[in-house]
Amino acid sequence: MCAPAASAQAAAPFAVELRFLGKTLNAAQQATVREAAARVSALIASPFAPVTLNLPANSCDSNLPKIKERVQQFFVFVRVSDLGEDKYAEAAPCDLHDGSYLPIYGVVDLNSNGLSDLPKVDLLDTMIHEMLHALGVGTLWEADYRVSLSGDSDDQNLIRKVNGRYFYTGAKALAAYQNLGGKVSTGIPLDADAGHWAGGAVCSEILSGDAGDYTGRVNPVSPLTLGALEDLGYRVNRAAGNRYTLPLKGCPTDKEGAREDAEASASGSASGPVYFASCAAARAAGAAPIRRGQPGYRPEMDGDGDGVACE
Ligand SMILES: [Zn+2]
Repeated sequence: MCAPAASAQAAAPFAVELRFLGKTLNAAQQATVREAAARVSALIASPFAPVTLNLPANSCDSNLPKIKERVQQFFVFVRVSDLGEDKYAEAAPCDLHDGSYLPIYGVVDLNSNGLSDLPKVDLLDTMIHEMLHALGVGTLWEADYRVSLSGDSDDQNLIRKVNGRYFYTGAKALAAYQNLGGKVSTGIPLDADAGHWAGGAVCSEILSGDAGDYTGRVNPVSPLTLGALEDLGYRVNRAAGNRYTLPLKGCPTDKEGAREDAEASASGSASGPVYFASCAAARAAGAAPIRRGQPGYRPEMDGDGDGVACE
């Protein structure tokens, strides 16, 4: 294997540290949150710049503890809160590094309503999505929000508004969108909240808005979202992303999408995004075992690395 050369500097891997606050999640839910943190950590290749924080309680949001420490890695507070009826969770980045304007820590609130009934796959999908928000994806796209710890502000806007609609304009994600066949004249269409890919155009992606946010599976982290991380200033592990096909004729409905996936897996067709969150999902779709090169194969599901996943 590729052992690092002795002279190579040991780069600190990026890791999302979790700090559970208040009413705790049960052990299984915490394990799922950890799985999401590992998934997101693997996307980022640039090290975290250590920084000293000395902040009073509630400086980012209410009900947060004071923070007085040398922060060695990005962390998120994970809480369970009453967010009403309409959403699974919400998240925000907190203080930003001077210079890079990348978040030092963030907050994820999971909705206490319905949490006990939320299937594992949807909790995993939700947490990956929210941690991306905590890292700045969809939340630091406007210059107004790019204010660093010492109060410096950045004038970089990654979105623009045309005829009342928002479009993403960051170069890396835009290039990825073009690669997938998207029209880039105006930018990548965003939802009205300006923080998600428009659900009707970029569906079934980890950062899709409501209309394209399929449940019952972990949506893929496409080159668009990897590009959005790069546009913010992160280096990314391209290999940690998922294959993604832009549905150029509009998004199928939730049910149609699930059926097309199942059909694509069953026929071994290379069309359409084929992504299984787990071997259980692959088996349920009748796709297991999956050989390397077949749709849905991922090395993560091939524990012994013999080229056959979900044996
Ligand atoms: Zn969101």
